[in-house]
Amino acid sequence: MSDEISRLRAVLNETNIQILALLRTNSLNPREIARLLQKDESQISRSLRTLERFGLVEGRWMRIGGKNIKVYSLKFEELRISFDAKGLRIAIGRNVLSYTPTFFESRAPEVKTFVGRKKEIEMLSGPQPVVVVYGIAGIGKSTLVARVFKDAFWYSITEEDTIEYVTWQLALYLSFLGFSEMLEYLRGGGKDIAVINRLALKGINETNAIAVFDDIHKCQDEDIETFIRFLSSHIEKGKLILISREKPRISYDDRVLVIHLKGLDSREAYELLKLKIPEITPEEFSYLYQMTFGHPLMLILVSENPRFSGENLFEYFFREVYETLSEDEKLILQVLSLFDEPVDLNVLKKLFAHNPFPVLYSLMKKGLVERFGSGYSLHDLLRGFVEEVRTISEREYYRGYIEYLLEKNTAKSFLTAFKYAVRLEDENLIKDMTELRIRKLWRVALDFPASYMKLLDRIKHSPYSKKEIARIYFNRGFFEKALKLWLEVKDIIRDDFHRFDVLMMLVDVYCELGNTDKAVECFAHLERIFSRHPDDPYMKLGYYIELTKIHTFRRERREALESAFKELEALRAYPHIYPELEALVLYHIGYLYVEMGNLKKALKYYREGLKVSKAYSLPFMENLGYIQLGIANYSLKNYKAAADYSRKAAEYFLKVKNYRRAIDALFRMTVSLIGLGEFAEAENAAHEMIKLAQSTNYPLGWSAYILLGILRELQGKEGRRYLEMGLKKVGGNEYISAGLKEELSVIFDEETIQKWFP
Ligand code: ADP
Repeated sequence: MSDEISRLRAVLNETNIQILALLRTNSLNPREIARLLQKDESQISRSLRTLERFGLVEGRWMRIGGKNIKVYSLKFEELRISFDAKGLRIAIGRNVLSYTPTFFESRAPEVKTFVGRKKEIEMLSGPQPVVVVYGIAGIGKSTLVARVFKDAFWYSITEEDTIEYVTWQLALYLSFLGFSEMLEYLRGGGKDIAVINRLALKGINETNAIAVFDDIHKCQDEDIETFIRFLSSHIEKGKLILISREKPRISYDDRVLVIHLKGLDSREAYELLKLKIPEITPEEFSYLYQMTFGHPLMLILVSENPRFSGENLFEYFFREVYETLSEDEKLILQVLSLFDEPVDLNVLKKLFAHNPFPVLYSLMKKGLVERFGSGYSLHDLLRGFVEEVRTISEREYYRGYIEYLLEKNTAKSFLTAFKYAVRLEDENLIKDMTELRIRKLWRVALDFPASYMKLLDRIKHSPYSKKEIARIYFNRGFFEKALKLWLEVKDIIRDDFHRFDVLMMLVDVYCELGNTDKAVECFAHLERIFSRHPDDPYMKLGYYIELTKIHTFRRERREALESAFKELEALRAYPHIYPELEALVLYHIGYLYVEMGNLKKALKYYREGLKVSKAYSLPFMENLGYIQLGIANYSLKNYKAAADYSRKAAEYFLKVKNYRRAIDALFRMTVSLIGLGEFAEAENAAHEMIKLAQSTNYPLGWSAYILLGILRELQGKEGRRYLEMGLKKVGGNEYISAGLKEELSVIFDEETIQKWFP
């Protein structure tokens, strides 16, 4: 048994613990786990296989579109897995292993030696929900907080940060602690900052989480500032710790404890120096203490070379410490000074021909380098010094790093790589990377549009950047703005792939704007490019996507259907899996069958789309499928099934606060329940719709008044008032009122409907 435990302990590395914690609430596909954790999918699959061997998880095969897909869930029987506020527990017999999930990128610095700070440690553990720790660089702020809250959620803010990644990480952490609402919201594409702020607050309060935001002085993003200010003025339970060089601008009241951190006192400083120089004399100590004012980082530096003679810091550092370093040590310091974030050991291995570890170790001992998980970084105070003496060329190292990051294949690593590509201002690199983004890493523009936009904005003169900016505008619904940019670059870009892409987007935007003639014109250009690259899988897919779109917009259903099947075929042959689109195409085929009156076929493809969504753990797509199934079943007068499907969808969309979709689902649910004769539940659904209509003003929502009036009339109650109110609200909208009558005609005859719509 103990053998098994030690083997299990060895298996439960950080990633594996995070995976178990994620599986706590859902069954998940490896691809979705990789997306949520922003880790390489092949690494995730390996981890899952290991966990499966140990009987901690189980995988279930699904067959989809000719592929075998595995979905994993926790296996509770053999080993007892449970969760509490602290994290994960696994019981084997009478032995219990406990783990707290942590994060690599957002974790506390490692604390090896620590002296003093008794008073501050006590204060940190006090009852106030907000603690501000501020003081100059290197004074020991992060070390102090990390000493007390080793397992906290830890996020170090950088100049480049946007709200997206911070909140994604916090949402993950909260889901590990059992609060999954925020992660579900973000997973479903939620972007509303006010909603995100409230969910984060709710999550911290409910789980008693401890969240540390380090280096707040670096923040250059308004949304992050607002987020932190919001949390700090509302948090009640749990703890929020803010670390900064300057006192942060939040509102201060008695819920906020402020620690202005100063140098170590002489006893503490002596203790620290004694560890470094056991033979130090009182005179030597007193001299060094006066020179450093007990600044811990300076103490550590001078202990390397106590001949410190009191010139300015930079001179001292440069001459006394830097000059004594070996060439390898200097090189590594220079390389680390090129990067904003801790650099992974694997990157350093790649950038240097030999193993950098001994050099890093020696630099850490000298207090020059800090370790965060498997990443290494230069202390901020030293960065400026090293930058001044740097002789290496950044180009070569940035390129190496970019290559390494792109192999990881995640949206986050792409964005980090892109940041360095932007710094290099290398047009060819930008061209290649945006192509990679389009061919393979769609999620970048979907999950982190603001972060991507921020980087693109810095090179906005580049046509490749412009077309990506336009795409983000398009996704946000700013069609005219997007169109303008695409037209600007259309004739500048010579590269076939990128030209093709611009034309695709032009077809999209012209269709959205109702200008099918222009769309057709662009499509003809696109077709010519495709004919020069008949074997390019992206162009093939893109060609059919746009062809289907044009036929659909022109209501040429047969042609649209034929093209949609080709689109599906191209998609399934595409070298990168794209299940979101696969589900969408299947739903679109279903929709075309509905339009053509073939409901049986429609159901078949809706179900297939649903299966894809489930296999790849895409709840948003899954619930879109339920809405579609609701519609088709309603038309078939299967009111029970229709009500059940739409109820499921309504619950999900309400949960992820996508109110437009929730109204769509509630509408279907209400009419289905009317068909079923379940009037009481139908009334509830209609009331829910009205509530949502009031907060969103989404036109379909107002039809709830009409439905409510009808429901009351059907039950022999007075419904006129509601009917009139509804007709007034919907009145002008021909599309809604005609649609509503058509929907009701499934249940009621012409004459009855006429009574309600005078
Ligand atoms: P800050 O966050 O204020 O910039 P750090 O916490 O990074 O400063 O501390 C700078 C260095 O000083 C670190 O390398 C750390 O090891 C050392 N240090 C800080 N406080 C202490 C302490 N109380 N005991 C031992 N070493 C300390």
